Amino acid sequence: MSVAEPDYKHTLNLPTTEFPMKANLAQREPAILQKWLDSGLYAKMLKQRDPSKSFLLNDGPPYANGDIHIGHALNKILKDMVVKSKALSGYYAPFIPGWDCHGLPIELQVEKKIGKAGVKVDAKTFRQHCREYATTQIDIQRKSFKRLGILADWDNPYITMDFAFEADIIRSLGKIVQNGHLVRGDRPVHWCVHCGSALAEAEVEYMDKTSDAIDVAFDVVDINKVSGIFNLQPAGPISIVIWTTTPWTLPANQAVAVNAKLEYSLVEYNARRMIVASQLVTPFTTRLGAEKIADYKVLSRCLGQQLEHLLLQHPFYERQVPVILGDHVTLDAGTGCVHTAPAHGTEDYIAGKHYNLPIDNPVDANGCFVPQTPLFGGQYVFKANPLIIETLKASGHLLSAAKLTHSYPHCWRHKEPLIFRATPQWFISMEAQGLRTAALDAIKDVKWIPQWGEARITGMVAGRPDWCISRQRTWGTPLALLIHKETAALHPNTAEIIETVANLVEKNGVQAWFDVELSDLLPADEATQYQKVTDMLDVWFDSGVVHACVADKRPEMHSPVDLYLEGSDQHRGWFQSALLSSVAMKQCAPYKQVLTHGFTVDADGKKMSKSLGNVVAPEKVIQALGADVLRLWVAATDYRGELRVSDEILKRTSDAYRRIRNTARFLLANLDGFNPQTDMVAPEQMLQLDRWIVEQAQKLQTLVLESYENYDFLIIYQQVHNFCSDELGSFYLDVIKDRQYTCKTDGVPRRSAQTALFHIAEALVRWIAPILSFTADEIWQYLPGERAESVFLSAWYTEFPKFAKPSQMDDTYWRMVLQVRTEVNKVLEAARNNGVLGSGLEAELTLYCDADLLRILEQLQNELRFVLITSQAQIAPVAMANAGAVKTEIPGLQISVTKSEHEKCQRCWHRTEDVNQNSDYPHICNRCVDNLSEVGEHRVYA
Ligand SMILES: [Zn+2]
Ligand SMILES: [Zn+2]
Repeated sequence: MSVAEPDYKHTLNLPTTEFPMKANLAQREPAILQKWLDSGLYAKMLKQRDPSKSFLLNDGPPYANGDIHIGHALNKILKDMVVKSKALSGYYAPFIPGWDCHGLPIELQVEKKIGKAGVKVDAKTFRQHCREYATTQIDIQRKSFKRLGILADWDNPYITMDFAFEADIIRSLGKIVQNGHLVRGDRPVHWCVHCGSALAEAEVEYMDKTSDAIDVAFDVVDINKVSGIFNLQPAGPISIVIWTTTPWTLPANQAVAVNAKLEYSLVEYNARRMIVASQLVTPFTTRLGAEKIADYKVLSRCLGQQLEHLLLQHPFYERQVPVILGDHVTLDAGTGCVHTAPAHGTEDYIAGKHYNLPIDNPVDANGCFVPQTPLFGGQYVFKANPLIIETLKASGHLLSAAKLTHSYPHCWRHKEPLIFRATPQWFISMEAQGLRTAALDAIKDVKWIPQWGEARITGMVAGRPDWCISRQRTWGTPLALLIHKETAALHPNTAEIIETVANLVEKNGVQAWFDVELSDLLPADEATQYQKVTDMLDVWFDSGVVHACVADKRPEMHSPVDLYLEGSDQHRGWFQSALLSSVAMKQCAPYKQVLTHGFTVDADGKKMSKSLGNVVAPEKVIQALGADVLRLWVAATDYRGELRVSDEILKRTSDAYRRIRNTARFLLANLDGFNPQTDMVAPEQMLQLDRWIVEQAQKLQTLVLESYENYDFLIIYQQVHNFCSDELGSFYLDVIKDRQYTCKTDGVPRRSAQTALFHIAEALVRWIAPILSFTADEIWQYLPGERAESVFLSAWYTEFPKFAKPSQMDDTYWRMVLQVRTEVNKVLEAARNNGVLGSGLEAELTLYCDADLLRILEQLQNELRFVLITSQAQIAPVAMANAGAVKTEIPGLQISVTKSEHEKCQRCWHRTEDVNQNSDYPHICNRCVDNLSEVGEHRVYA
């Protein structure tokens, strides 16, 4: 009659934790978020840091219109990762989120609802509606940003339509006026007839357009003079030929420009004598129909400079226009003779100014020729093209006409071609006070990440025109300037007037400017002589001066800040408007570092669009997978290039997330019952393998911190993930399971591993906190020991044990053991497949080793079997290897495996000869007997 088998299960230290295996992020995250908000976590984070050691970020404001898309999410998550990592590094790191609230897109939304300002509704009411609309949009976006786990001052963001902010925009303008950078001028600007406004550089998009490309003859007035230049006898008419892709600009022609240094030829073709650049004669005559060189004749040549001041007859107006010189004339295309309309082009304008040409602009705000324009009055410019071509043809001045598809500026909103149009506008001059030079100098003091950003913005600032800051809009910050009715000069007391207006706006918002009477601002005799400027400021000015309205104003901030972090299109946009305004106001850049990221595209690198059906909405990702998975995707993608995202990519990110979560769960489960106050094992008592893994964690921490410092989130993700899956997952955690479960609960072998696990968990939870913020804070709640209420109120882990002297069993040593283990696992796997073995614990191994390997493995003594997770593992010289030994990929190692014939210990499942020798403890091995008694097992290595 057999007695019931004793049950040893209750004597094992089986792991247990309440930390859930299933993340359930979509449900769990909102509760964690609510806890952060309720406890005022953001304020607490700031409060515990010393403001004198700060890391400051200026948030680039999204536009307050519409739901956030994946690009917004990416940008804010990157910023959040930076700020949180800086907080963990001990910095005072505020995050003040902002919104851009003025400008056209909001006007358009409001127009849809209540009609145009000044038509259906008065401007004041219209502005009120714009303000209300923007407020609702901010609330929608704020909710979405919060849900991403971004810790920021959500209750006190900066909002560019706040009265105080509006007042500070106006004060910033005042400072720029005071420093002499503001100029007024009739200058050509990019003009969208659909917007009815000038556009900023950043609002211009280049797209292909098909245009009429024509060669036009401008007849020389003085035939004797031009004949003399070419050293010929006068013999009938001669014309200079221009080539243009914008026939509609011909009515505004005021000159033809040639390059002084280029050579020009007098060509005879089809009984016509024409002047074009020598190097372009062949393509030119080809356009006119010549099939071979013999079809035309070059009569003579001259240098461009000889043609200066030659008068030409405008092809369809009475006007005579001069030949002028300009370096902008090149041989890229055309004839080397450039039609010059100062009202319609920047280079034309500059050349025209040099020669004192009129800037007459015949095109109105709607893109139509003003009524008094001869021949074309009232015509829309692009519709006038065929009429102009017809007119040229009729008078014999059209030499060729063709269609040409070329890159042409378009409105970024309307996707419609722009025109260049001279209008009275206000500019921040790049030259008046040396702004260009100063800005280029300031760029050099900034660290641009990636580094190519420096060349990019340098090129853009070097080549940009003056910054046109006036807009003909209703909803914006006014250019609060008073100009003389006749001279258009600024009032001499502009600085004081601006401050008075700013104070009014601070109380009542921008409407105060429209409401204030001139008599309130000026003495009675002056009030009648001056008028208000009615333009609004470019919204890029609003956001550009965040450095003055936020960084210089908020008590937790100061200028210049440490970082601006936006998409790489902002070299043209915000980075530049911030730089120019800051240099114009304060003679320095507003930032010390500028980090840029690429754009999100689908898995095939295609731009996301509704029509392609490849849009990944952050809201949906959060509902399906959780914000932490989206955050992990951001970290796991190289933001320096395009960021690919799709359901498939996010699914893989989810798998990676699970690996990290499961590792954390294993750590927590095995720390069950561990009290770091009382159970920590002294460094010198720790087992060799435990010391090794702690040293690995320490080494990884150095890399992680360095990578946070360099914003290399991808490296952090890769290294932490690899640590979880390789060093921990496939080695250390596997090896220590047996020790954890079967050794005496409070014996050194088990406590040593727990000590290691505790250090690793403490470090890991912090490494991942800036990225997997919800999960880290969740893990934090389950970690043993006294701790702050949130991981975000802690700092990087510094309590790693210091091991007195370098061990024989260093990293190289364990990496070698790991290789041996890999080979052993292959052999065990094969034996299992052949039916020789069931589990690895049925195996008895003999490792035949060369001398070097013997020296390595013998150090582990009888603990080698625990590393290999077999019941027995002995080593022997390779010379003794029998025929059955398996050769491995390590040259000095052969392995033979046999099935153990010993009884299985009912407690630890190892098969050893000493099972069932102790009648008090039937069916278990002596090791287990020790572990059940006061003695406990003795271990040194693993
Ligand atoms: Zn437009
Ligand atoms: Zn046992």
